Amino acid sequence: MPDHLLHSPIEYLKGVGPSKAETLKKELQVFTFGDLLHLYPFRYVDRSRFYKLNEISGSAAEVQVIGKITQLQEVAGKGRSKRLVGQFEDDTGSMELVWFQGARFLKNALQLDVPYVLFGKPNSFNGRYSFPHPELELLSEFKASPLKGLQPIYSSTDKLTRQGLNTKGIARLIRTLLPQLKGSLPEFYPPEIRQAFHLAGREASYFEVHFPQNTERLEAARQRIKFDEFFFLQMEMVHQKQMHKQQFKGYAFAEVGTHFSRFFEEVLPFALTGAQKRVLKEIRRDVMHGGHMNRLVQGDVGSGKTIVALMSMLLAIDNGFQACLMAPTEILATQHYQGISSLLAQMDLNVALLTGSVKAAERKGIHQALEEGSLHILIGTHALIEEKVTFRNLGLAVVDEQHRFGVAQRAKLWKKNTLPPHILVMTATPIPRTLAMAVYGDLDISLIDELPPGRKPIKTVHQYDSNRLKVFGFMKEEIAKGRQVYVVYPLIEESEAMDYKDLTDGYESIVRAFPMPDYQVSIVHGRMKAGDKEFEMNRFVKGETHIMVATTVIEVGVNVPNASVMVIESAERFGLSQLHQLRGRVGRGAEKSYCLLMTGHKLSKEAKTRISTMVRTNDGFEIADTDMKLRGPGDLMGTRQSGLLNLKMADVGKDGALLGQARQAAQRILEEDPKLRLPKHQALNSTIQGRTKGARAWGRIS
Ligand code: ADP
Ligand code: MG
Repeated sequence: MPDHLLHSPIEYLKGVGPSKAETLKKELQVFTFGDLLHLYPFRYVDRSRFYKLNEISGSAAEVQVIGKITQLQEVAGKGRSKRLVGQFEDDTGSMELVWFQGARFLKNALQLDVPYVLFGKPNSFNGRYSFPHPELELLSEFKASPLKGLQPIYSSTDKLTRQGLNTKGIARLIRTLLPQLKGSLPEFYPPEIRQAFHLAGREASYFEVHFPQNTERLEAARQRIKFDEFFFLQMEMVHQKQMHKQQFKGYAFAEVGTHFSRFFEEVLPFALTGAQKRVLKEIRRDVMHGGHMNRLVQGDVGSGKTIVALMSMLLAIDNGFQACLMAPTEILATQHYQGISSLLAQMDLNVALLTGSVKAAERKGIHQALEEGSLHILIGTHALIEEKVTFRNLGLAVVDEQHRFGVAQRAKLWKKNTLPPHILVMTATPIPRTLAMAVYGDLDISLIDELPPGRKPIKTVHQYDSNRLKVFGFMKEEIAKGRQVYVVYPLIEESEAMDYKDLTDGYESIVRAFPMPDYQVSIVHGRMKAGDKEFEMNRFVKGETHIMVATTVIEVGVNVPNASVMVIESAERFGLSQLHQLRGRVGRGAEKSYCLLMTGHKLSKEAKTRISTMVRTNDGFEIADTDMKLRGPGDLMGTRQSGLLNLKMADVGKDGALLGQARQAAQRILEEDPKLRLPKHQALNSTIQGRTKGARAWGRIS
């Protein structure tokens, strides 16, 4: 198979002995020819253009000049250090050269009055330019050298450099490699796909990206390589989805029955938003015909995902099935239980709560009712996926806040019935569309992109720590109006001890400023016992305390509509999506709500961007986009997922359009020829086989 040359061990390449091979593996994870081929330059310098000395002005980038060295002189500096100073001339002027290191060696190595090509970044001092540490190559050698035009710059390390593998050394290896790969990089797209998506040729693109002939060709090559990266990812996703649709039968919820209708007509306390209706329709379409639903519902904090989940559960019940809802924390599960039980109070349905702290006797009763089928809805934490918990007929499992659960935990839900129950995953972490497509491309995705009417946008203000008294004053005004306030402290693992000190110091100063009996202050943090946490949390939920001082444990899901102020301490230390989640804890009632971001005066550029983004917008998707641009997609999804993307050149944040196109291409191909059996897909088929040899298997991603 032609692609196999790419799997040749790197030590087989001429110029790579055992010790260089070792270093390449350790430092750059280059094990094979293919790895080296995919080691792309991180930038290029333009060596096609020559400047004259009198053209150099402003803050020019690196320039290239032909001229002669007319003088070289060692000059004594501080202590024993010496620098080398020279004069460089062309027919338009002269400029100073200076080296702070290697003066003796360079003085002997450089020649006077012969033509050199100088390459360097001019430095301006008092209106005069000089070149610190320029690269110099004899003009005669430069002419003979292959590195002209756009020159690739590879990232290297100290260890590599010591073995002669600086950027030039790496370029040399790639120059050795490329001719050997001629014929081993066959085109795999059928012509109509290449045409439709304007793709440059495969082999040419690899040559071009390492040694570009000009910027247009380089750009086309980069587009092609990025497209390929997205394309293979999407082939897996789309394939996975197709297989899922074909292989997995699910339970058909053909009826819209009495519970659903009665709830909709008599119980539902408000009109559904357009987005909620649309998502419900999407869910119904999935579950109606006996296919298996595997759907992600994305919706910003407060967009009303719970009602959508509840109505889907009623659909299951109307068709003779049970439903469950799994939440990541006990507090959240309890809130769901309370909310859903009260909504269903007038209906003849049984709902139970199962968490780690449910007593054995009660637990037994729940298990029994589940097996008999008299229990319709079970709400709980991961306690409900334990093996002992068996349902009579589970038809739908809803998972809230999915990023807190592992894939393995979700998989356990699949086994709770003969056929897998339908799965509805709800997440409040807004993921930009492009990233969702890349990461969850094997799930169907629904979007609740509309907030219920009448929400007043939360007013977000940035305050410096020095204004704390003013902030306390504002908190008092709000409390006087009957509102409640959150004060949240960061808790970062690495600085845990310090963070707890900040939290307790903060708590003490708040208790001093808000004394009993007029004010009641709660505190919740990770070092408290679960029971105490629950107790304090409940006091706040019930409105018995005015202020809740907490670490980020309240980040997830609690609903206290009367809370109208969120004060975030050391806001510069939080990530954007965390800030947004925290802010989502207020603005849930009818009252105007506020988010105060407290910071010190010194802020990094990135922190400033985060704060100003929060002040500017309430839109979770805009925030997620900015977050992704600041941090890159890997961080946004948690490191586990970033490896899954395995992108070398493409960037989900910047190349979203290309990702969409690659998905279209994958869909077109797989719809026409799901098993890639057509002759025109032979090359593609074997390229995929070649890629996955030794890597993960085709279609096994989750
Ligand atoms: P989230 O999507 O964050 O889970 P919830 O489902 O908790 O949001 O809903 C937030 C609040 O909005 C709840 O109090 C809920 O009752 C209310 N709500 C949901 N849908 C609507 C609607 N269509 N109209 C008015 N209020 C709604
Ligand atoms: Mg929720």
